[in-house]
Amino acid sequence: MNLPRIENIDVKGKRIFLRVDFNVPLENGSVSDDTRIKKTMSTIELLLNRGAKLIVASHLGRPDGKVNPKYSMKPVLEAFSKILGKEVKFSENIIGPEVVKISNSLNDGEVLLLENLRFHKEEEENEKEFSKKLSELAEIYINDAFGAAHRAHASTEGITNFLPSYAGTLMYREIEILTSLITKPEKPFVAIIGGAKVSSKIKILNNLFNKVDAMLIGGGMAYTFLKSRAVPVGSSLVEKELEPQAFQMIDKAGFEKVDFQLPVDHIIADSFSDKAKTKTVDKMGIIDGWMGMDIGPKTISAYEKIIKSAGTIFWNGPMGVFEMDKFANGTIQIAKAIAKSNAKTVVGGGDSIAAINKAGVEDKITHISTGGGASLEFLEGRALPGVLALLKIKD
Ligand code: AMP
Repeated sequence: MNLPRIENIDVKGKRIFLRVDFNVPLENGSVSDDTRIKKTMSTIELLLNRGAKLIVASHLGRPDGKVNPKYSMKPVLEAFSKILGKEVKFSENIIGPEVVKISNSLNDGEVLLLENLRFHKEEEENEKEFSKKLSELAEIYINDAFGAAHRAHASTEGITNFLPSYAGTLMYREIEILTSLITKPEKPFVAIIGGAKVSSKIKILNNLFNKVDAMLIGGGMAYTFLKSRAVPVGSSLVEKELEPQAFQMIDKAGFEKVDFQLPVDHIIADSFSDKAKTKTVDKMGIIDGWMGMDIGPKTISAYEKIIKSAGTIFWNGPMGVFEMDKFANGTIQIAKAIAKSNAKTVVGGGDSIAAINKAGVEDKITHISTGGGASLEFLEGRALPGVLALLKIKD
C-alpha cells in the first residue's frame, strides 16, 4: 500500500494537525494505562526534532457530541507532557478564532493538545464545515490514529479534503504489518481466535480461512462449533442461530485442508462465577448445569505444538473467561507459547493484549496492534475509511 509517509516531507516551522489515538483508560481522574500515548511518541519525536509545530487531537470515550468533564482530555494532557518531558499547551476550543490564534502563535517544536474531538457532534457526523474548521489550525495533516481508522469522522476522513495528508509512523507500521500477514505470511500461518461469540468473529474467520494453514479456536465461541457437531456442551455459551454456519465452516476446513482445531477438553464450572465449583473434563464431558469456562490441559498442549511450528501467528480473543483467575490459565499459557515461538507474532484486541501483559511477555511479541476494532476490520478484508482518505480514494 502506497501510503504517503512523513519521513520525506519538510515540516520545519509548519503547523501540523496530528490526529492520534489517545483514547486511554482513566481511573480516579488519571490515565491508568499510557501505552497508546507511548506508542505515538516515535511520530511526535520525529516531527518535533524536525522543528514542526504540533496541534495534537484525539477522541476520548463516548461523550456523544456534548461537552462532558468526565471525558475531558485534561488527565491525558498531564500524562502526555510527562512522557514528552516538556510543557504541552492546551485548548478547550477545538475550532474557532481563539484556537486558530493559539496555533498561529506556536513556536517551532511546541505542542498544543486540543480538548476531546467528540465534544462536537460534527466530529462523528464527519461534517464538512467542521472538518474545514479543523483544517484551519494547520498546514499539514498527519494521521497516526490507527485505532480510529475504521471510522469516517471529521478528524480521520473529512479533514483530508482540505490539507495535504500523510500517515504517521505508527499508522504506517500497523498497516504494513497487517498487510504482510494477509499477503505474504511465513508458512505455516496459524490464526488463534477466541472470545465470547462466533457472531462477532465470523467475518474474520471467513476472511482468514483461505490464508491460514491452521485455525485454533478457543473461548466461548468454541461451544457453538462443538454444539453444531452434537458434542454435549451443557449450559455453555451457544449462539443457536450461528450453528449452521459453524457446522459448514468445519466442513469447509476439511475441503480446504485447514487444520481447524476445537478444544478437546475443558475447565467447566457450575456457575458463571469465580466462586463456582470447577472440574476438568474431556471432549464429551460437559453435562447439563455446567459450562465451559476455559480450555483444558490437553487442548493447551495440542495448541502449543501447533504454535511451536508456526511461521506466522495472529491471535485475537481470549481462550476462556480470563478476567476470573480460575479460568485464565488457558489464555495465559497460549500467550506464553506465542511469546516463545520463533514465528512472526501479531496480537490484536484488548483482551489478548491484556493477557500478553499479564503474562509479562509483551517484549517477545513482534507486533501488538493498538487498534482492536480497526485491526479486526482490516483482517476481515474491509477497507478502513481513515486509510482510504490518506490514499485519496474517496467513496
Ligand atoms: P471478545 O470481545 O469477543 O474477544 O470476547 C471476550 C470475552 O469473551 C471476555 O470477556 C471473556 O470473558 C469471554 N469469554 C471467553 N471464554 C468464554 C467462555 N468459555 N464463556 C463465556 N465467555 C467467555
